[in-house]
Amino acid sequence: MSFDALGLCDALVQAVADKGYTVASQIQGEAIPAILNQRDVMAVAQTGTGKTAAFTLPVLQLLSAGESAQPHHVRALIITPTRELAAQVAKSVENYSGLLNIRSGAVFGGVRIEPQIRQLQQGVDVLVATPGRLIDLYNQQAISFEHLEILVLDEADRMLDLGFVEDIQHIQTLLPSKRQTLLFSATFSNDIQTFAKNMLNMPLIIAV
Ligand code: AMP
Repeated sequence: MSFDALGLCDALVQAVADKGYTVASQIQGEAIPAILNQRDVMAVAQTGTGKTAAFTLPVLQLLSAGESAQPHHVRALIITPTRELAAQVAKSVENYSGLLNIRSGAVFGGVRIEPQIRQLQQGVDVLVATPGRLIDLYNQQAISFEHLEILVLDEADRMLDLGFVEDIQHIQTLLPSKRQTLLFSATFSNDIQTFAKNMLNMPLIIAV
């Protein structure tokens, strides 16, 4: 299916065309319309299926449709289990948001926190983060979730494997309860289903 048939706006259709994608992958075809309809989604999809674009494109569209006045606040938060994945997802977000008035950034451990604090002070609409650094930044009052609309948990099964359940549950308590939540996982284990039940509100479940 083509990307414009999925309901994506011209700027995003152009951005995917510039990347050379002609048709949406299966996960994109199923997840994009549901996310644009503001449903919570649990998607079971492996890396390599096009899952990053499956959440990034509709999240960017929802944010640009309801564009808030300056300054830029964190309206979408994408949590990943590792620094490498955070950097990779942030690059995708940056790529696709080139034609939109949306600022993005990434925060993760292992590097100095000060530049990340400055980046947050300048304002980002989409923040990609690993759990530990995100909590550090919150504790230092460098970040506010007051304007948060969308939470994405990417590779949630790896978050459980790496022992991040409590961190994520803590972060959840800091977020507005009225929000859209999207959870992506490579597996559909009992643990991930229990975790998803706590995080999501009547989700559409998609497995590819
Ligand atoms: P992911 O599953 O997000 O790790 O993406 C796997 C790879 O597929 C990435 O290198 C993307 O650039 C690429 N990709 C994502 N969506 C499409 C698409 N619709 N057509 C072709 N390649 C894609």
